[in-house]
Amino acid sequence: MGTNRINKDRRKFFQTSAALIGGTLAFSIIKPLELLAQSKNEVAKDEKTEQPLWGMGVDIEKCIGCGKCVEACKLENNVPREPFYFRTWIEQYTVKKDGDVKIESPNGGIGGLKQSVPDEDIFKSFMVPKLCNHCTDAPCVQACPVGATYISPDGVVLVDETYCIGCSYCIQACPYGARFMNPVTKVADKCTFCYHRISKGLEPACVEVCPTDARIFGNLRDKKSDLVAFMQKHPTEVLKRHLNTSPRVFYNGLSSEVR
Ligand code: SF4
Ligand code: SF4
Repeated sequence: MGTNRINKDRRKFFQTSAALIGGTLAFSIIKPLELLAQSKNEVAKDEKTEQPLWGMGVDIEKCIGCGKCVEACKLENNVPREPFYFRTWIEQYTVKKDGDVKIESPNGGIGGLKQSVPDEDIFKSFMVPKLCNHCTDAPCVQACPVGATYISPDGVVLVDETYCIGCSYCIQACPYGARFMNPVTKVADKCTFCYHRISKGLEPACVEVCPTDARIFGNLRDKKSDLVAFMQKHPTEVLKRHLNTSPRVFYNGLSSEVR
């Protein structure tokens, strides 16, 4: 994966900078994160730094469950074809009239999700795209015994495969099921926001292919970005807020049934 090659220099820079200017660096990262925790509308106020702070919006009201994002992610990031490995996937939630909630994601949604519950039994149904939440307080980072998982200066949680020893601690620590052990590379794998693409000014592959613009990528520090506009327009929420991981993936239309 080319992503990790790109990350090596950034990681070295980050570690060196942290050692030299620990207090200053902590301030530059923590301040916008505190803003995130307080109110999404305040995120754009921190415009003092040129360093972007990347995040993603997911509009559940727009997702049609076509799975094109899942397919694009597999192709772009060389994710194994077997139906157990995904950097992103789509879950179909069906709330039945009897209160039962059915969650389905055959093949991660590749090829499109189809309803398996008869119409007459459905109270409501919706699609939820999932991926790594690029948590600010990431349990996976805390669990890694060798520092192979880290947060880049621009807020992306990454894995340096040259450091990863394949212990799986990060996979067990992630409360979102967003990581897997890559059977080819034998190291931990996950969404990188297509770091090799965003570093060149491109959008993540899943965002680029989505036919309904259900995924919005952008800089949380840029009040003119599509992401900040999306967050100001919609009452967004994060997954499992009670865990205090402070995700940087923000959902519109997230209902209480979503786990
Ligand atoms: Fe780590 Fe999981 Fe959070 Fe991603 S979603 S940063 S893998 S804890
Ligand atoms: Fe939903 Fe867009 Fe993915 Fe299709 S490509 S499943 S509409 S997020």
